[in-house]
Amino acid sequence: MSVLVYCEVSGGSLKKASLEALSEGKKLAGALGGSLNAVVVGSGLDAHIDAIKNHGAETIYVADSADHENYVPEAHLTAVADAAAQASATVCLIPATTRGRELAPRVAVKLDAGLIEDVTGLTGEGGTVAAIRPEYAGKVYRSVKANTLPMVVSTRPNTFDAVADAGAGARVDLSLDYSAKAKVVETRKAGGEKIDVAEADRIVGGGRGLKEPENFKLVEDLAETLGAAVAASRAVVDSGWRPHAEQVGQTGKVVSPTLYIAVGISGAIQHLAGMTTSKTIVAINKDKDAPIFKVADYGLVGDAMEVLPALNAELKK
Ligand SMILES: Cc1cc2nc3c(=O)[nH]c(=O)nc-3n(C[C@H](O)[C@H](O)[C@H](O)COP(=O)(O)OP(=O)(O)OC[C@H]3O[C@@H](n4cnc5c(N)ncnc54)[C@H](O)[C@@H]3O)c2cc1C
Repeated sequence: MSVLVYCEVSGGSLKKASLEALSEGKKLAGALGGSLNAVVVGSGLDAHIDAIKNHGAETIYVADSADHENYVPEAHLTAVADAAAQASATVCLIPATTRGRELAPRVAVKLDAGLIEDVTGLTGEGGTVAAIRPEYAGKVYRSVKANTLPMVVSTRPNTFDAVADAGAGARVDLSLDYSAKAKVVETRKAGGEKIDVAEADRIVGGGRGLKEPENFKLVEDLAETLGAAVAASRAVVDSGWRPHAEQVGQTGKVVSPTLYIAVGISGAIQHLAGMTTSKTIVAINKDKDAPIFKVADYGLVGDAMEVLPALNAELKK
């Protein structure tokens, strides 16, 4: 019995969500009485092996080739399946990033395994896996226990702590035999060098309460001061004020930052679906009865146009 963690490298960096999954995998392997192993696919991976080792991996299965510069699902699927077979993995953890959400169901089918997606809690009990996952747009948290193994579990980014706890880190190189249905010709990053909202540790989100697109400058200024990403509600994305890449919610991105500041966002259930697992939520809204205050840790009733410049000036000090 062993736990295998898929470690995601993209844009030349190892995703923090992978280290979180490793730390959670280590606990799970301990509870199930097995070892923790990792699999990583990409090009120029040497720089990331130590971090994976230092977060508990006993064996690291590595598919490192210029062919893997771009993400090709069939290659990553083959690597995970090969590593799972070699490690006799009974649980496979995959970070529920945009890529992980695509990869996890494919892996489950390939391994003829069960699938529990986007979990926010994970334990090993009685030789099997128990997890907690948000459902109905975050209105309820469901406890799920696996009836059967193997099981594929995707872990929500920013929910678990990444804790350094070194494993043996023995390296096993994989050479992959796969055929891809499509070829990646070019990858262009939406939003240029801006912090991606899905990965940001701090987020300032703006909604229709900002009245007009120009007022988003106030949100951008505060985000810059905090080193945060800018997010948007669907209302302002649909109005063309902000790009869809910034939309948070049921039909946008699911985020779980340390800090989420919602400015002029009412807190519709579809928006909450994307951000209620944020660690600290601050709401700024002029309506004291706005639903966003029900999920906020700190609430500020006031006009965003007055509050934002004052808050930014204080934070800059
Ligand atoms: C199938 C479906 C999927 C959806 N998916 C998403 C999604 O992914 N993400 C998403 O966000 N929405 C989504 N929606 C839309 C959602 O239902 C809401 O319509 C949307 O979230 C509202 O955006 P908002 O809060 O910016 O605007 P509003 O609901 O109009 O709220 C504006 C808020 O600003 C406050 N305000 C006004 N003036 C000021 C001021 N001067 N200072 C401070 N506060 C002020 C108001 O009190 C109000 O609370 C979806 C809807 C459907 C049906």
